Amino acid sequence: VGWELFRQEILPKIQRVRNAHPMLVDGDAGSTSDWDDRWNHIKKFLERSGPFMHPDFEPSTESLQFMLETCKILVIGAGGLGCELLKNLALSGFRNIHVVDMDNIDVSNLNRQFLFRAKDVGRPKADVAADFINSRVPGCFCPSFYLYLEFHIIVCGLDSIVARRWMNGMLLSLLVYEDGVLDPSSIIPLIDGGTEGFKGNARVILPGMTACIDCTLELYPPQINFPMCTIASMPRLPEHCIEYVRILQWPKEMPFGDDMALDGDDPEHIQWVYQKSLERAAEFSITGVTYRLTQGVVKRIIPAVASTNAAIAAACATEVFKIASSAYLPLNNYMVFNDVDGLYTYTFEAERKENCSACSQVPSDLHFSPSSKLQEVLDYLTESTSLQMKSPAITTTMDGKNKTLYLQSVASIEQRTRPNLTKTLNELGLADGQELAVADVTTPQTVLFKLCFTS
Ligand SMILES: [Zn+2]
Repeated sequence: VGWELFRQEILPKIQRVRNAHPMLVDGDAGSTSDWDDRWNHIKKFLERSGPFMHPDFEPSTESLQFMLETCKILVIGAGGLGCELLKNLALSGFRNIHVVDMDNIDVSNLNRQFLFRAKDVGRPKADVAADFINSRVPGCFCPSFYLYLEFHIIVCGLDSIVARRWMNGMLLSLLVYEDGVLDPSSIIPLIDGGTEGFKGNARVILPGMTACIDCTLELYPPQINFPMCTIASMPRLPEHCIEYVRILQWPKEMPFGDDMALDGDDPEHIQWVYQKSLERAAEFSITGVTYRLTQGVVKRIIPAVASTNAAIAAACATEVFKIASSAYLPLNNYMVFNDVDGLYTYTFEAERKENCSACSQVPSDLHFSPSSKLQEVLDYLTESTSLQMKSPAITTTMDGKNKTLYLQSVASIEQRTRPNLTKTLNELGLADGQELAVADVTTPQTVLFKLCFTS
């Protein structure tokens, strides 16, 4: 039902609404830089019918026109996935592509982030990527600034789940509800790609209509570590030996002074862990401990695989093309890709979670006994697999006044509110049914919870 509604009602509105404010595209470069047959390959998809085309789609020149002249796309992330996405989109006929990335280029990016060269090391990724696309794909306008509301489609190629959730929350905050009914023209589709080594996924999210990032948060479990008993008494892998040194030996021996935490970017630290890991490995006749592996384990590095990025970016760019042209039904709505061993891929429909704290519009209940301590509430917010918050700030309203119960990010307020953590909810004066407003880096909006006392 969702997709039918999307295709018939929403897509035309998305196109119309943002059509109402046409952008000036780089001095009309679009119409002057085309050469004969430039878009022939795209026209084959849009200007004639085919077996996979949506039955209601009327082949015409309009879709291509929309893509070339009007459709505005925001690409978030200009790393491994982002470079692929920008190249794919620019070569598919999208000319109004904006890119954002907070990172600067590192020399280790150059093997796969092919829009960057050695001379670019140290420069902002977004600037260099935009310059490269502009110089290689004539007529493509790719600035590196943006305002979310202007975009028809947003594509994420991020490696951070927190940033992804924040973006998800941003698009949810732009939704307009009238008497509880979603105004479809306020929806901006989000295409999200993610990779980790040889695994990847691509998904299509219609904020407010289909499963959002937070609805499926259980799919991104927190980092799983090796069991402690394996590390301590039955190591089998070189990684177990490195973890033994990292977790047990470093804090015990404190080789660089009492307060010195292990720094994965400090070569002396890594060298120490490497030597100790070699000794431990020798004890158990385990081979394979190297300096490189040591750093990889300490820094939790999962090697980036260029071909996984290419496959996922291709899937994402195809979804952008399908939605922008409306000629084909989009992915519904989650594709898994895995080439660890052979090649495996499948698609399923991720379902919305009724009480999703990001997109459900209803405050979630927090079940605690009045004698629970605030610390327990805080632990729940960070440890629950469906919330996974990072440093939640909890406020409430008492006697018509805002009261901060706990806030971590500002040192002076943290100090002032820390004693609250050991107080019970009762002692804090919180009542059954009380609303708690929680702010966190995982969302641009404050999340409302309702306190439900258990007996
Ligand atoms: Zn949701």
